[in-house]
Amino acid sequence: MSLPHHPTIEPFAIEHATLATGDEDGRSIPDSTVVVDEVGRIEAIGPSASVSVPSGYHRLDATGKVVSPGMINGHIHTNSKGLPGNPKNQTPAGQRRLVRLLRSLPGQIFMYFNSKSNIETMLNSGVTTVRSVGDIGYELTWLRDEIRDGILVGPRIIPAGPMMSIPDGHGAPLSALESATPEESRHTTAVNIAHGVRAIKIAATGGVTDSQVPGEAGTPQMSIEQMRAICETAHEVGIIVAAHAQSRQGVYNALKAGVDTIEHGCPLDDELIGMFLDNPLTLRGYSALEPTLSAGLPTAFLTKETLHMTEIQLDNSIPIAKGVVVGARNAHKAGIKVGVGTDTGVPYSMAYGTWREMDLLHRYSGFTTAEAFHAGTQVTAEIIGVSDITGSLEVGKSADLLVLAENPVDNLRTLEHPLMVVAAGHPIFRPSVKRYPEIESTLDMIYSKPL
Ligand SMILES: [Zn+2]
Repeated sequence: MSLPHHPTIEPFAIEHATLATGDEDGRSIPDSTVVVDEVGRIEAIGPSASVSVPSGYHRLDATGKVVSPGMINGHIHTNSKGLPGNPKNQTPAGQRRLVRLLRSLPGQIFMYFNSKSNIETMLNSGVTTVRSVGDIGYELTWLRDEIRDGILVGPRIIPAGPMMSIPDGHGAPLSALESATPEESRHTTAVNIAHGVRAIKIAATGGVTDSQVPGEAGTPQMSIEQMRAICETAHEVGIIVAAHAQSRQGVYNALKAGVDTIEHGCPLDDELIGMFLDNPLTLRGYSALEPTLSAGLPTAFLTKETLHMTEIQLDNSIPIAKGVVVGARNAHKAGIKVGVGTDTGVPYSMAYGTWREMDLLHRYSGFTTAEAFHAGTQVTAEIIGVSDITGSLEVGKSADLLVLAENPVDNLRTLEHPLMVVAAGHPIFRPSVKRYPEIESTLDMIYSKPL
């Protein structure tokens, strides 16, 4: 049996909608029509009076509704839904048990189906492009291929595979390949590239989720020389590099090595700001920030019992979560590109919760609603390297669209319930996700408070 490599799509038009462009100034355009062709691209877009819909195309009347670009999430993990887990699995012994299980063939098949389910949740929540930044194995490259080839409908995936860490470093061994020297780091990077990844993730510092001692998160782990070797290997084939970094020294080291996106971050001083804005060792000459407020902020409000975290994990997290909020504000003010990533899978960052990251940038880090929506569409497309194909509403770009009840610039929460999702031209007419009402009401309650 042969499956279609380039699936054809029933072409259609969405007529008489208000366009929410995702531009920084929140520009919207009334009574517009978007035409989607048979290969899933935007064929025409403009005032309904001047766009003609070819005969034979399906026509959807969206009078009173809003069409926007699909959301883009630049920092996901698909091994978990985001429900609080068992902190015992996060010890090195627990991870070693799990890694043996999950890297076996049945384990990989389990991870594939687990990831597939979380990816479907993201799609139904209105996310049309994702970058993974630390997977157990190569399950997301399989899903990427199936979606690209039209076997599955899903978001466009930029997969990272396992991240790069030092021996016993953050993410190791469960979701990282370990290396101790620049030569070994070049090798582990090349292994991932050979498996088809299109993103590389480094653990520059310790992290919260697997911390075993006070102050571990943010403590520099990988050397600048190792990170430089990784960046050189990735950049050579046009792949951008993300680094988990949760302290000034960690962010400094990663920027110095030429990392393209800093994940999480810290309060930024003038020296760091200068390095972000002009970073000649990166692929594009600058570094961007993905603060992932959704990951850390719950720990600033909730108890360790609610979060299912150990006291050490919680103590590690709180100062970092607060620093990251300040860092996002500093970056925004300084004109550093700030992207949307949720770190889905950590406790209380749900697979369907991408919209919340924009809401948090607005509530806590000084973004207008227009700037937050711009971050979650056009900016994240740019910083993860897909702005030539998606992120905005333009002829020739992939038809990655949402039909919404309201304009996100007026109410970001409208993104929580898209009426329709279009991913590379594939329409999902009644998107639905399984929500956890208790988690949602807890998040609504804590995020109504100041930090
Ligand atoms: Zn992460």
